[in-house]
Amino acid sequence: MPQPDRDTLDHSPESAEPAQELLCDQAELERLCARWRAAGSFAFDTEFIRDDTYEARLCLVQAVGGGAGEKPVLIDPMAPTIDLKPFWDLVTDPQIVTIVHAGKEDFEVCLRASGKPPRNVFDVQIAAGFAGYGYPLSLTRLVEVLRRKRLRKGQTLTDWSIRPLTDEQIRYAIDDVAHLPSMYGKLSRELERRKRTAWAMEEFLRFESSEHYVPPVADRVQKLRGSKSLDGLGMLTLERLLKWRDAWAQEKNRPVRALIRDDILVELARRRPRHARELAVLRGFPQARNAKVTQALVDVIEECRATPKEKWPQPVETREETAMMRSTIDLLSAVSRAVCFEQELSHDLLGGASRLRELIEYELGGVDTVPPLLRGWRLEFLGERLLDLLRGRCQLHFTGWPKSPRLDVVLRDIGPHDSQANGAEKPAAEAVPAAAAPDEKPEKAKRKKRGD
Ligand SMILES: [Zn+2]
Repeated sequence: MPQPDRDTLDHSPESAEPAQELLCDQAELERLCARWRAAGSFAFDTEFIRDDTYEARLCLVQAVGGGAGEKPVLIDPMAPTIDLKPFWDLVTDPQIVTIVHAGKEDFEVCLRASGKPPRNVFDVQIAAGFAGYGYPLSLTRLVEVLRRKRLRKGQTLTDWSIRPLTDEQIRYAIDDVAHLPSMYGKLSRELERRKRTAWAMEEFLRFESSEHYVPPVADRVQKLRGSKSLDGLGMLTLERLLKWRDAWAQEKNRPVRALIRDDILVELARRRPRHARELAVLRGFPQARNAKVTQALVDVIEECRATPKEKWPQPVETREETAMMRSTIDLLSAVSRAVCFEQELSHDLLGGASRLRELIEYELGGVDTVPPLLRGWRLEFLGERLLDLLRGRCQLHFTGWPKSPRLDVVLRDIGPHDSQANGAEKPAAEAVPAAAAPDEKPEKAKRKKRGD
């Protein structure tokens, strides 16, 4: 995407406005909150820095009412006169629509400050994915596409804790929320038209669960690189090391990764050293010479060793992936991409290859939890069809190449005796390997023409 240059920016009406003051008056904040409550909706964004502290430090809250002609307001959460409670009450009120763009981090701040996750969220980034604009789009891109306007350059490296903020910072901060209410209006109409409101709501609902922000430690372990090859004791050790690092970082008020990197923790869980001196030889571990830290780590590891085997987590089973398994994933992937394109729903919202693997694992009986593709809107949109495809009940039709290629998944007419009989010769679907499964050799696919 081309970055807007300064000349174009100056034509934007917002930049002509004089920079405004930060709101530091509690009574004024309460008056505004009441007004936004009456409007039934409002939008907000936050700016924070998380460079040197355990938790992100909130530096600015930008908000704008959902009613027509509302002006953005910049609230100063660092002002001693400001208590954000009435504001968080609004964010967590189920009666009021809270509009955001990629709101997860903003809501994390809300959860920490108020103890409550948000309610009744409308995230324009997610809505855009359901409305065929793509996902995940940056705010700049979304404003370009939906409002035909260019925002000024990002302020990613800016220090939001300085006072006073520069005019440039203030204009940027205002831009961050100014367009949200109108985009909300446009996108909700679009979702209605496409009958996808309920689907988007299902995604928004995830913001309302606290686990969305603080995943259980077992889930966090799974996400760390290299953790999948650990044995049960290794997994347990990694869980406990993560918890120990959290507590330590909180106590020191430092960002967790600044103290010990993730890969060092994984390596410790794999080696499980018995003596503090073994830690001194680890590379990339600045705390290696801190005797208090190394002893604490060795103690955590020792404690894990003493834990009875029944209490260890189950190690992840890694199945060797055959060429045909990879082809199957490619095939399902080609189908989902084609359907998403055709139906104008962002493929990244549906989920990529790992979601398809989960679906296949589930079909094979390897896991009990119903995978996301077989739940809610994903099931309705595509999951059902992917299952049919896996079970051999579909045919793929590839047409229109090169001008307007189409890949259609068509349910086969299943006769009375060729349905699911295992081993019986099934009529082959008309597969087009070049489009669907590039890894599959054409001669291996049955190419019998359908006789209809
Ligand atoms: Zn922002």
